Amino acid sequence: GVRHEPTSKIVLDLERLYDDASEELAYVARYARAIQQQRGDYNGRVLSIRADDLRALAIVYDASPSGLIERLTEHGVLVADPRAFFAS
Ligand code: C2E
Ligand code: C2E
Ligand code: C2E
Repeated sequence: GVRHEPTSKIVLDLERLYDDASEELAYVARYARAIQQQRGDYNGRVLSIRADDLRALAIVYDASPSGLIERLTEHGVLVADPRAFFAS
């Protein structure tokens, strides 16, 4: 059957993501731009993404969803708490 990994909401820090020069995040950045376009959500500093889309992206990186989350965390492009993010 389908295995469900525990997921909390995935929120990307767009400034950090788009400034990140590493080749490794190129696909994540391209995906985020496409989602912004589909939503018409151009002015956000952060972007919440679907768990389904994280799963699809993980396949591109030959990783599990939690493995990809780990890499995103290492690059510092995830926002743990968007409300705290805006309060700071
Ligand atoms: P759709 O999937 O038919 O969703 C239509 C609208 O329902 C979305 O308009 C949004 O207002 C709402 N909606 C759907 N799922 C969610 C959700 O999980 N959370 C929230 N808050 N709202 C939801 P919107 O945002 O203008 O998106 C238009 C279309 O663009 C979507 O149609 C979908 O086809 C695509 N899209 C937008 N964002 C994503 C995304 O993150 N991933 C994927 N795969 N497609 C997306
Ligand atoms: P905000 O837009 O003022 O939203 C405040 C809170 O209202 C959100 O806290 C969430 O709990 C709820 N909320 C707003 N829109 C939706 C929605 O479409 N669906 C659901 N279920 N709840 C909604 P949250 O998620 O902690 O986000 C905090 C702030 O982070 C948001 O304040 C917004 O400024 C920003 N943010 C988060 N995700 C996105 C995103 O995908 N795009 C943009 N542009 N901003 C985002
Ligand atoms: P959220 O808006 O708080 O939605 C939380 C979860 O509720 C979503 O997790 C999804 O499982 C379910 N959900 C909410 N609205 C809809 C809907 O219209 N249709 C369906 N089929 N399910 C819905 P998910 O998919 O992991 O998305 C996480 C977050 O990503 C959402 O939190 C929202 O902030 C953002 N998001 C996802 N898809 C869209 C979209 O199409 N448009 C926009 N504007 N935001 C989206």
